[in-house]
Amino acid sequence: MSLYRSFEVFSKALQQKKVTCYSATKHYLTKIKDSASLNIFIEIFDKEALARAKEIDKKIANGDAGKLAGMVIALKDNICFKGHEVTASSKILKGYISSYNATVVDRLLDQDAIIIGRVNCDEFAMGSGNENTIYDTVKNPLDNNKVAGGSSGGSAAAVSAGLCMSALGSDTGGSIRQPAAFCGVYGLKPTYSRVSRYGLIAYASSFDQIGPITNNIFDAKLLLEVISGRDPYDSTSSSREIHSKDLSSSGNGKKSIAYIKEHIENPGLDPIIKSYILNKIKELKSLGHNVEAISFPYLEYLVPTYYVISTAEASSNLSRYDGIRFGYRSDHNNDLESTYIKSRSMGFGKEVQRRIMLGTFVLSAGYHEAYFTKAQKIRRIIQDKTNSIFKEHDFIISPTTPHTAFDIGKKYSDPTQMYLEDIFTVHANLAGNPAISIPIKDSSLKMPFGLQLMSNHFKEKDLLEFCSSNF
Ligand code: GLN
Repeated sequence: MSLYRSFEVFSKALQQKKVTCYSATKHYLTKIKDSASLNIFIEIFDKEALARAKEIDKKIANGDAGKLAGMVIALKDNICFKGHEVTASSKILKGYISSYNATVVDRLLDQDAIIIGRVNCDEFAMGSGNENTIYDTVKNPLDNNKVAGGSSGGSAAAVSAGLCMSALGSDTGGSIRQPAAFCGVYGLKPTYSRVSRYGLIAYASSFDQIGPITNNIFDAKLLLEVISGRDPYDSTSSSREIHSKDLSSSGNGKKSIAYIKEHIENPGLDPIIKSYILNKIKELKSLGHNVEAISFPYLEYLVPTYYVISTAEASSNLSRYDGIRFGYRSDHNNDLESTYIKSRSMGFGKEVQRRIMLGTFVLSAGYHEAYFTKAQKIRRIIQDKTNSIFKEHDFIISPTTPHTAFDIGKKYSDPTQMYLEDIFTVHANLAGNPAISIPIKDSSLKMPFGLQLMSNHFKEKDLLEFCSSNF
């Protein structure tokens, strides 16, 4: 793997003095400038990144550099970085400067990563095409007429185009895995609570997780180790350890893998992706793993359940943007009420407003029982069923998405079509499990797609080890 696409290779080159953090940062900065037309970076922290690279080069020379020394990372524009603007790609937050670091940012900086800039995303992480943004639509670096996926489209596209070594994204319903699949890179959504959400601009708090987008599994594992762990600023964060061990040292054991019949039979699934998965299943069997089809009779409930609960949570989380406390305030107001209404109507984009209205509706007194409470009950059924699958199996294998990246504009005006993009990814968010999207290139398809593996809660290490020895 090339120097700039593998931290393992890069670190060795650093030790052998074949490269410096400074020269690597310059390399990425040039590439970012040359790729401006892809609309990936919203802001480049060039001076700051170069100054930091110099400092880290000194630390390396002194032998006291951190685990991520010299890893050049892009941040999704919904992760707070002290002293820097953060907008969640929304007009309502334009000009808002964060006064603190997200916990993940502190952890990256403590280990000497270099944050090179912030990247485009769907507004408040709502979307599957990175088209809901006040900046222009992110173009897929592999085919500029296609979307990069969303909502972490900028993060996945940046890694795919080689504009940084890795990136952080956030995943509420698939936003790390789906763009990773569309751009041909790895995307890992950790177990809910594995990574602190402090400093992540909230979308739906019972789903949101920050995770890595990388060129390989080694980098994903390393980043996960650095960003995860208990944080007193996020009371939902877990103190469960990720045991760090050399990836090559284990993971060769035979595993039990389930695949879901309803996924394979889904009429929307691209036949080439379907046959690839069926072949992969055969291959895993021939390697001695136990692979079997199971039924998951709730597939059709996943997307509706996710959209009821996530919009309900979003409507509550986004009530803080009132034109008074953060970012944008409309000038056309004459009292408090009109300040709220005008600032929110003009500050939020169409999709965000649609979700706030939907979420407010499902929470309203007359409909709470029929929608929100019902969706919570279905979520529990889905969680129970998922737990029972993981009593018998180590992993569930599935496609990440039904097809490869779609054309820019194709689904933009049809929200239901856009929501159905999440059919295979929301399961892990509803049940809180970790899941990874592994990039696959099949010669009969022009674009890459993703193979998704989900494991039991807190089994990221097993998941990553299995992936590195079988994919
Ligand atoms: N596409 C999903 C949505 O729009 C996922 C978003 C996400 O994971 N942030 O809600």
